[in-house]
Amino acid sequence: MATRAEDRSEAGAGGELPQTPVGRLPHPDKSPRVANRAQHAGAAETSGFDTVLHYFDLAADRLGLTEGLRSVVRTAEREVQVQVPIKLRDAGTHVFSGYRVQHNGARGPYKGGIRYHELVNLDEVRALAALMTWKTAIVDVPFGGAKGGVNCPARDFDFDELELVTRGFVDKIRDVLGPMRDIPAPDVNTDARVMAWMMDEYGKLHGDTPAVVTGKPISLGGSLGRDAATGRGVAYAYREAARDLGLRNDEARVVLQGFGNVGSWAARILTQLGCRVVGVSNSSGAIHSPDGIDPDALLRHLADGGKLIQYPEAAGADGAVAITPEELVALDCEVLIPAALGGTIHSANAGAVRARMIVEGANNPTTPGADEILNSNGVLVIPDVLANAGGVIVSYFEWVQNLQHFSWDEREVNFRLGNRMRRAYRQVRERARDGNVPLRVAAYEVGIERVVEAGRLRGHRGYG
Ligand code: NAD
Repeated sequence: MATRAEDRSEAGAGGELPQTPVGRLPHPDKSPRVANRAQHAGAAETSGFDTVLHYFDLAADRLGLTEGLRSVVRTAEREVQVQVPIKLRDAGTHVFSGYRVQHNGARGPYKGGIRYHELVNLDEVRALAALMTWKTAIVDVPFGGAKGGVNCPARDFDFDELELVTRGFVDKIRDVLGPMRDIPAPDVNTDARVMAWMMDEYGKLHGDTPAVVTGKPISLGGSLGRDAATGRGVAYAYREAARDLGLRNDEARVVLQGFGNVGSWAARILTQLGCRVVGVSNSSGAIHSPDGIDPDALLRHLADGGKLIQYPEAAGADGAVAITPEELVALDCEVLIPAALGGTIHSANAGAVRARMIVEGANNPTTPGADEILNSNGVLVIPDVLANAGGVIVSYFEWVQNLQHFSWDEREVNFRLGNRMRRAYRQVRERARDGNVPLRVAAYEVGIERVVEAGRLRGHRGYG
């Protein structure tokens, strides 16, 4: 999608972290990296993995999980770290580190994205792998949780370097992949083209195997509706919560932090539902318009090479003005959607949130400290493990279509996505009501229970 690519090029970090140009690589060889240490905590007060463990422990306490079972379920089943040596265009041979963490496979093949970024590290990959375990269980798709990445500055790579890294990484981890073992998908700085190379590399040994990755190009077995799926799922999660709050779409003012794949699709679909987008930010800044921002016009502006903060001067800019990122979080609105980084809603800004609900499009956007503040201020938080699960739901549909050698039309994909999001939301909401707990705790309870049940039924060691 041209607009997304443009937005990524403007983003300091492909939507996540700052960049290191290839020409300024600090060391010739960074492998093996020190495990267990987060190198970039961003605005978060804790590392990503600590945040996931914090929420896990809250739910595990309520479920009365024994210490033994807890330690089996909270840790990863397998962590693979490999070296990926690449001859770079203008920096000689460099050895990158690649990771694949398979957190839990009790419910089915491991599933999770592959991220390319120079600051990828084991702590981050672990955290995201654990989130995938709970997410796939909460929305009840038959997968376990995994995540992977390579610590390379992919946005500075040319086409050939990107392909070399991808094929080199798959070559090292192919023994742990497979359509019935572990199925990667795109994440930060990886896309459909990268998935095509992964599928092709895996196929050299195993024969053509489209179902080994999801998020592929449509012409190679990708699913219609996959690109929009996470943003669409965010919009569907909002819709359910709005009903609960008695909030009409035409009264809902929406603020988006991040306007990449997730944020821009959520904005478009919410606008179609009748909501008004009144604030948008990306890595270049933030804008506000009480009259509403047309997401399509903003996307055209970005696609034409404009920066977000130049939008207020653009024709048809809906009376928008530039504001600071801090002001964006504190805007008067009904719905705030973090769709950028981890840890962006933290103890220092959570008290300023005026939204009635937060729909977490990003992974891990809210720190535990912020979560407490939001809960005590009565802000309804729809957690990442539920709100941004649309992507993995449609990845599941892609896998099913590949296994059946059949494709569905987009209406069918969206219809099935809507049903699954609604069902998951309602199950979590009932759980939250029964236990008088926030949606996040209820969601983790549902996810953990399902994983534990699957492990027990399989007779896996440690599940009691
Ligand atoms: P993306 O790279 O397409 O977009 C990220 C956006 O965040 C960009 O607009 C970027 O400019 C903006 N951004 C970066 N730094 C920012 C900052 N400091 N303040 C405000 N905005 C900033 O990424 P994406 O695919 O949209 O993913 C966004 C988040 O959603 C990530 O946390 C990702 O892990 C999560 N997520 C994505 C998917 C998916 O299917 N794409 C699925 C689940 C979760």
